[in-house]
Amino acid sequence: MDREAGEVTAVTVEAIVQSLLERGLSTRAEIMSDTGLSRPTVSRTLAVLLREGAIEQVKDANYVGRGRPPHLLRVSSRRADSVGVELGRGHVAFAVTDASGRVVMSAAHDTNAASSLVERAREALAFMMAQTEQARVDLSMLRNVVVGTPGPRYHNPETHKAMDVSLARLSRERALVAKVFMDELRAPVSVGNNTRYTALAEIGRRRAAGLGVDDLIYLRVDEGIGGGIVAGGELQSGAWDAAGEMGHISVDVDGASCFCGGQGCLELVAALPAVIRAAGALDLDDLRDRATNDVAAITAIHEAATATATVVAGVLAVVNPSVLVIGGSVASLPGFMERVEAVTRATAPQWATLDLVIETAATDHLLGAIGAAAAGYGTGGGTAPLVAQQVALSSRRATLRRRTRQAQPSSSSHAVAGVGVYNKAEHLERRASLP
Ligand SMILES: [Zn+2]
Repeated sequence: MDREAGEVTAVTVEAIVQSLLERGLSTRAEIMSDTGLSRPTVSRTLAVLLREGAIEQVKDANYVGRGRPPHLLRVSSRRADSVGVELGRGHVAFAVTDASGRVVMSAAHDTNAASSLVERAREALAFMMAQTEQARVDLSMLRNVVVGTPGPRYHNPETHKAMDVSLARLSRERALVAKVFMDELRAPVSVGNNTRYTALAEIGRRRAAGLGVDDLIYLRVDEGIGGGIVAGGELQSGAWDAAGEMGHISVDVDGASCFCGGQGCLELVAALPAVIRAAGALDLDDLRDRATNDVAAITAIHEAATATATVVAGVLAVVNPSVLVIGGSVASLPGFMERVEAVTRATAPQWATLDLVIETAATDHLLGAIGAAAAGYGTGGGTAPLVAQQVALSSRRATLRRRTRQAQPSSSSHAVAGVGVYNKAEHLERRASLP
């Protein structure tokens, strides 16, 4: 390797991209100083990176001297690095990050709640392809695609299904979802629980606002009850990707049996269908209308909140987060959050509530997708080598590139690992941070 001749190698690309990622915006002189590379080497490497679209030039807005302002360089915001997708019950959404982890594009739209996961996957993919094409965001060299889906779904609480049946069905559906995205995007796809990813987005939202939050619990009280636990900055997955399933903690040992195999689960008494039934309401709108003036509705909400607080107090005692975020349609009912907070603070141990902030979740349909993208995005030194790899790959013809990426062992094994039996080791490798 003859660096002085200005040879472009993976090592020089990696050094230069790392410098750009750290500075955000750089001059050529700064890159030379950061990397110790010669002017010809930097020039040739930058020329290749610019040609391949991996980096871009912007004018220096602060330049006040004579003549043309010098160009600054940065990692391209049109070159997508990771994609997060949420296939929610009533909406689909996606978020795209660049190599520095910035969310460069995100969008959501409502969908038919009765559609299957695979139908929603196709819908989300088509939506994302159209939107990114319009915005000229390049998805051809994605490093990671992470898709969040709801857990198993039960319409009929009278016919409880066995847990192994539901997990098998969910695994099959998630495998099909992974295939939909892999066939089109030719990138490693993993599929996990959307509520878990929302917990990541909630912590990312606070970090973006300058808050140093590492320990957060997210609880969603909606059609079902689920959540996510971020401890020490890492999203906890558990042995079965089920860490955070707070809806399946028992609040009544003599209660009804639950599809999860347990008995008297919180979800059976505090999720929306249970609250509607207890209030004698028709639906969510009817329940909301009666939430402040009808004794049955007020009592139903009060009892759901009390049961929720019992579970929350126990989880807080064990996990000891600094922030508890509660969202979902039930949490938005008048009186619910107030009762949860009052009971929680009265019953949980002092250490669990002393500095605890309890907040209502953001009602943002993009959060699940942004959190999924964060789960797929690796921070720090891991990014630059991957950009180097991408550039090396991109210099080949598109067809060859596609075949090469498809043949990478990580593509298929990751996708298989991401569905069915969740791969904990791979998940733990991911960093739980947003830019
Ligand atoms: Zn249960």
